[in-house]
Amino acid sequence: MIETDTLIIGGGLAGLSAAHALEGKRAYLLCEREPRLGGLAASVKKNGFTFDYSGHLLHLRWPKTKKFILNLLDGNHALIERKARIFSNGVYTPYPFQANLSGLPATVRSECVRGFLAAYKKSHRPYAIGHTRKSPEVFTAWTRRVFGEGISKHFMLPYNSKLWRYPLEKLSTEWCAPFVPRPTLKQVLEGAYQRGKEAIGYNASFYYPLRGGIQALPDAFARGLTCIERNCAVTAIDLKNKTAICGCLGPVKFKHLINTAALNDFIAKLTAPPSAIKQAAKKLGHNTVYVLNLGVKNAGCGIHWAYFPERNFPFYRAGIASNFSKRLAPKGLASFYIEVSTPDAPLNLSGAETAVIKGLISCALIKKESDIIESLWLKIPCAYVIYNRERAASLPVIFDWLTTLRAQSIGRYGSWKYSFMEESVKEGLEAAEKVLRHG
Ligand SMILES: Cc1cc2nc3c(=O)[nH]c(=O)nc-3n(C[C@H](O)[C@H](O)[C@H](O)COP(=O)(O)OP(=O)(O)OC[C@H]3O[C@@H](n4cnc5c(N)ncnc54)[C@H](O)[C@@H]3O)c2cc1C
Repeated sequence: MIETDTLIIGGGLAGLSAAHALEGKRAYLLCEREPRLGGLAASVKKNGFTFDYSGHLLHLRWPKTKKFILNLLDGNHALIERKARIFSNGVYTPYPFQANLSGLPATVRSECVRGFLAAYKKSHRPYAIGHTRKSPEVFTAWTRRVFGEGISKHFMLPYNSKLWRYPLEKLSTEWCAPFVPRPTLKQVLEGAYQRGKEAIGYNASFYYPLRGGIQALPDAFARGLTCIERNCAVTAIDLKNKTAICGCLGPVKFKHLINTAALNDFIAKLTAPPSAIKQAAKKLGHNTVYVLNLGVKNAGCGIHWAYFPERNFPFYRAGIASNFSKRLAPKGLASFYIEVSTPDAPLNLSGAETAVIKGLISCALIKKESDIIESLWLKIPCAYVIYNRERAASLPVIFDWLTTLRAQSIGRYGSWKYSFMEESVKEGLEAAEKVLRHG
């Protein structure tokens, strides 16, 4: 039987970061089920186009991980000012919607401003996130309390409904703080009657590789790692006896375990977990996102991406990746990504493609269907984990139990949260530090 100090399940950014921190210090084995590394931070090449699994932009918030990631990229990066729009009521307005109401039709704008002022007056703690209260506040109540009726009606509710594909009156608000910009009263009013502020929110500027798409990041990791097995799915894990079945390698004995696979899948592979743990894992929900990538000619639009709250568009967001890296498309052509969300359900791809293209023409992102010269659907089966009561009740049960067995489950899906690439990197480095500390 193969023996290692630390078994790492998954070669996405969390697993790669953990391996990087252990390299040369501890024996480890990283098993990735796919033939390529990167997890969701990966790119697919097709006829001169490089397509990511939707836009994967580096939002670097923490000095240590920022330095670490940029060092890895070794100059292969650009810092880009976001150009994001919202298409609503027939016009494009800058993102965030709530700080850029001035371009909207006058009636919509006054509905939004009136609603915001009424909400502001009513609430003593207008920007508080609901989960700090005694009983958790759901998204519908939170957005109405914070932004008022108009902004909720024209953006927050329809957009989030399309993204989450889960009843918003059951969606909790723990995820909102980093992701929903909350401009000040002054910013909302200035944005309604003068020029608004675009540089608000977590992604006002971002880094992106100059060459190779986001795949450049896992590739940079891989260059320094020696103990990686691709095409190697971990199919069973016995946490008590500290063994796992790892693809064609067979049984592997380990001292420490770092899991980065989706938490519910991980629990399903464990040998005889307590029934309370199995039950808790079964309650974890998620949506599925299908990304239609298109290679396009005659695309003249300079924006990076746009949000589509209205129902007549089947997608919630559409981006032009070649506007943040020219090398993602052959010269003179553009590379688009369009995101369609389902409640963990199959999508009729040909019907969806027809509807998406119709939508792209009606909002003038592309001129005519014959301008599309390439297309590729990529599926993200587990895309956004659902924040609800069940998640809030299940996670402590599962993590308390894993802690008693000294197993770490990290990353966006290993810890079952809405987070970014940088956070997965941070958690990978921290998990490895924990292993090194524990001997
Ligand atoms: C639509 C969408 C857009 C996004 N956009 C951005 C963005 O712009 N910027 C940003 O920073 N973040 C973005 N993210 C989030 C980002 O993709 C993740 O935070 C990050 O890539 C997660 O890395 P991870 O290593 O935690 O997980 P993953 O990337 O999911 O990696 C887990 C790995 O485990 C492997 N695995 C699973 N089961 C097994 C098994 N049994 N055996 C072996 N291997 C296994 C998988 O194949 C995978 O490679 C986006 C996410 C989505 C869904």
